[in-house]
Amino acid sequence: MAAAEWRAIDAGLRTTLEEHLRAPPISLSAIAQSLGVKVISSVLPGGISGEIRPDPNTPAGFIVRVNKNDPARRQRFTVAHELAHFLLHRDVIGNGVTDDVLYRSTLSDAREAQANRLAADLLMPRALVDEWIERAKSLRVEDPVEFLSDKFGVSTAAMKIRLGMD
Ligand SMILES: [Zn+2]
Repeated sequence: MAAAEWRAIDAGLRTTLEEHLRAPPISLSAIAQSLGVKVISSVLPGGISGEIRPDPNTPAGFIVRVNKNDPARRQRFTVAHELAHFLLHRDVIGNGVTDDVLYRSTLSDAREAQANRLAADLLMPRALVDEWIERAKSLRVEDPVEFLSDKFGVSTAAMKIRLGMD
């Protein structure tokens, strides 16, 4: 658990999250369910990657919508980003937050950067990535970045950033 964002999450919730971060690929649907957040793949306007809003049917519940026309791994990152908004920013979500393709919204750039860092930590927990780097070495895989991206269900671009190769 590396990013400073983890410290902003209360200990009980962190423990719940950690139970879902033990093996790749990380199940975002299991995490969402444990948080009481519904995730729906939807038709969203062009240029919009995702959104999170209060669920009108569930007190304290939230709904995440992700653009169903985006590639699967992109959708996974978006869902992780929206879950990060729930974990870090639910007090300021108000009627909802909509993220464009660059993950910009009505929230500040600082909050967007926090959500991106926590999203990366959810999808690619550092300890797990380190473990799988070692496996990739012992298996002598031809393309470790592709191997790890496939294993974690993320884009090679996201994995390169995680590995400090960007
Ligand atoms: Zn955002």
